[in-house]
Amino acid sequence: MDLELKDKVAVVTGGSVGIGLAIARGLAAEGVHLALCAREGRRHATEANTISADFGVNVLDVAVDVTNSEDLGAFVAAIESKFGGADILINNAGTGSEETILEADDDRWQYYWDLHVMAAVRLARALAPGMIKRGGGVVLNNASICATQPLYYEPIYNTTKAALVMFSKCLANELIPHNIRVNTVNPGLVRTPDWYKTATIITQDMEQTAEEFLQGIADQYAPIKRFASPEEIADFFVFLCSARASYSVGSTYYVDGGWLNVVT
Ligand code: NDP
Repeated sequence: MDLELKDKVAVVTGGSVGIGLAIARGLAAEGVHLALCAREGRRHATEANTISADFGVNVLDVAVDVTNSEDLGAFVAAIESKFGGADILINNAGTGSEETILEADDDRWQYYWDLHVMAAVRLARALAPGMIKRGGGVVLNNASICATQPLYYEPIYNTTKAALVMFSKCLANELIPHNIRVNTVNPGLVRTPDWYKTATIITQDMEQTAEEFLQGIADQYAPIKRFASPEEIADFFVFLCSARASYSVGSTYYVDGGWLNVVT
């Protein structure tokens, strides 16, 4: 299948580890040049160099906190300077939360709103005009199954990811006349290093191993009874970026091993 992605330019937020890194590598394997950002500069500089060496594509990496609008402005300026704009934007940076609504203060809500919603708003607003000049593009937002089916311990995550899905739908309607396709992916359980780290901490004083703990979660939630690998999710993102997904517009796709428990 020819994905027609060679020599496109993709921006991936949170591209240093986990799903974002797998998406970056999946796109690079198709000949896509990359602009990656994350907060911790060294880790993503290392990954950027490895991707460049492995696939022979140009990779820009910038240390950015996507909750900070000045950082985002500097990132966009660097993208303009190196590539003259972008064809693909993947809003991926994000993380789980843990709180109760009665205890969480305004600052906590604001941080996750900036992380999961405003970063996507700001990057789309900054990069879409350039995509229009280039003749079209793709914007993909990485939300979560929790946007639809909440986990009890992270109401702020659930709420802000739901807002991201709605933003994505509205953006899709606004941009499709300019040949820019916007979609959302809602992953289920994805086995990233962070999940393993959390499992290791939780099980340090338990009889159970981290592996057994993770298997228990998979057994409890996912009919497929396992986590996805980041690469399994990334493959779907790469497909949605491609010309082979040319009629996919304004949709939300669940890649969750059957976890979503309703028909939508
Ligand atoms: P990881 O924690 O493995 O990676 C998160 C990435 O985002 C890192 O590169 C991190 O780098 C970056 N990041 C986090 N906060 C910021 C910030 N403020 N500014 C810039 N970069 C940031 O996460 P996953 O790969 O698991 O998750 C990626 C996305 O997928 C998230 O949006 C998550 O909500 C979603 N998702 C994940 C699921 C899972 O099971 N793993 C399931 C469903 C959805 P750094 O820390 O250096 O900034």
